[in-house]
Amino acid sequence: MTKALFFVDSYLKESPATVVSVKDGKYVILDQTIFYAKGGGQPNDTGKIIRGSEVFNVVYVGKFSGEISHEVDRVGLQPGDNVYCVLNWERRYKLMRSHTAAHVLTALLNKGTGALITGNQLEEDYVRFDFSLEKFDKALLETYLNKANELFATDVAVNWYELPREEVLKIPGIVKMAEAFPPDLPALRIVEIVGVDRQADGGTHVRNLREIGRVELLKTENKGKNNRRIYFKLN
Ligand SMILES: [Zn+2]
Repeated sequence: MTKALFFVDSYLKESPATVVSVKDGKYVILDQTIFYAKGGGQPNDTGKIIRGSEVFNVVYVGKFSGEISHEVDRVGLQPGDNVYCVLNWERRYKLMRSHTAAHVLTALLNKGTGALITGNQLEEDYVRFDFSLEKFDKALLETYLNKANELFATDVAVNWYELPREEVLKIPGIVKMAEAFPPDLPALRIVEIVGVDRQADGGTHVRNLREIGRVELLKTENKGKNNRRIYFKLN
């Protein structure tokens, strides 16, 4: 099983690795990786796998049969190769900032209005999420964005750690999400924005809310009686 280095340190931009296996010439499994595999509403990382003077561009990273698979743009990598991995850090860092921002905004909305988040998708340049709320009011949403921006101007720590599954299931508010995790996992990864939000989450986040900067509302949509969609972006 590949060691997922990004779970421990989301700021790792480069790392050595060894090729474990290659399928169809282009799908590469490494012994350890800094590349986030698409999942949980967060897109995959991109970047490079370098062997000597040869560069293999990582165009997609996904999870297949529980393994993190890196799709490269050309064949040639072999099992046993010692390689060096380099992230497209600009893209990843935006996704980290957006991901943490999305947690803050959804936590504020949930606490303030009782709205439940029904879906979310991060993109490199914007974030979309869906929530259930009967009364739809753009001005109200703006007030929550303003509240979030106020928080982003303060030092609030973001921590991630593992907790035993049994313990996680006792924490109000994250039970629903935790149940979506495979039942055989003895420990769950928790992302805690101190004093704001705590949830079981497999994404990559910034360490301090100040790193987010500011966010801006792009647009809102009605998707049915109680279903709302909001788009925002980093400023
Ligand atoms: Zn998340």
